[in-house]
Amino acid sequence: MIIVMSPSSTDEDLKRVENAVESRGLRCHLSKGEERTIVGVIGDKKQISQLEVNMLPGVEKSVRITEKYKLVSREFHPQDSVVDVDGVKIGAGHLTVMAGPCAVESEEQLMEAAKCVKDGGAQFLRGGAFKPRTSPYDFQGLAEEGLKLLRKAGDAYGLKVVTEIVNQNDIDLIAKYADMFQIGARNMQNFQLLKEVGRSKKPVLLKRGLCATISEWLNAAEYIASEGNMNIVLCERGIRTYETFTRNTLDLSAVAAVKELSHLPIVVDPSHGTGRWQMVQPMSCAAIAAGADGLIIEVHPHPEVALSDGSQSLTPKNFNATMDKVRQIANLMGRE
Ligand code: PEP
Ligand code: MN
Repeated sequence: MIIVMSPSSTDEDLKRVENAVESRGLRCHLSKGEERTIVGVIGDKKQISQLEVNMLPGVEKSVRITEKYKLVSREFHPQDSVVDVDGVKIGAGHLTVMAGPCAVESEEQLMEAAKCVKDGGAQFLRGGAFKPRTSPYDFQGLAEEGLKLLRKAGDAYGLKVVTEIVNQNDIDLIAKYADMFQIGARNMQNFQLLKEVGRSKKPVLLKRGLCATISEWLNAAEYIASEGNMNIVLCERGIRTYETFTRNTLDLSAVAAVKELSHLPIVVDPSHGTGRWQMVQPMSCAAIAAGADGLIIEVHPHPEVALSDGSQSLTPKNFNATMDKVRQIANLMGRE
């Protein structure tokens, strides 16, 4: 349930509502907007009746949320959320681009990639140091050495760093080097990992699972939010369908759906979404036109020798061309 306080309600009214909720063993999560405060009630909703809540002074109405997720729902927080990653804002009109190689391979590769990412106008450097590969015989990433290189390249070019966490035991290690955690598609329902990043304050990029519905994805985000971390950015990266020409089917309708259902920012990954570098530029443009808050794109100085995902990685030249086109679409849409 969410409880909407009326614009004229007082601090005492709010306190009374919080006490009523907490005395039943439930928890409150407040969302203070310009006009209204909204109280999200977390816990077994059978413990408190809507009638009782509606009769408390200062309460405008209460709404039973049919979906299980609350904190990430638009009902709970009607305005678009902005996630601030150490000064770089994601959401509410800002257009954020994260780019870099699939995996960190060497200092030379990463520095070259970072330069191109910066020159193209992106704000984040991406790159995996722990790679969740389909085959155990494929390159698994450079681990801490990769994290160090990411931090070094990020600092050298003034880029924020986003990198994937695959194991909850690595949380402190990754937090030391990165500005944002990435939860990959394969771990979208690794609930222990979701709770662990939820207990951290560091922003989280939550990718949609390979076969996840939008509701399952938002529930995964709720796991993070329910532990206290609201700095969540969703990422549509394609879902598994019967189509084989593309690696995945990029579901751009998810952008519009998420905008309706949630206040969280959403970025699109046209690289994993299609698996084909030729399709990255058109799908980037389409994502922005559909209202995405940003993009995450794989870029490699030499995709032909990449240790992972070369066939979907842009060359520096193609990345620049893509950014030019994206800027044109963004201008057309009245975006920054
Ligand atoms: C990645 O970003 O390199 C990655 C592994 O993505 P996903 O989890 O979407 O497959
Ligand atoms: Mn990849």
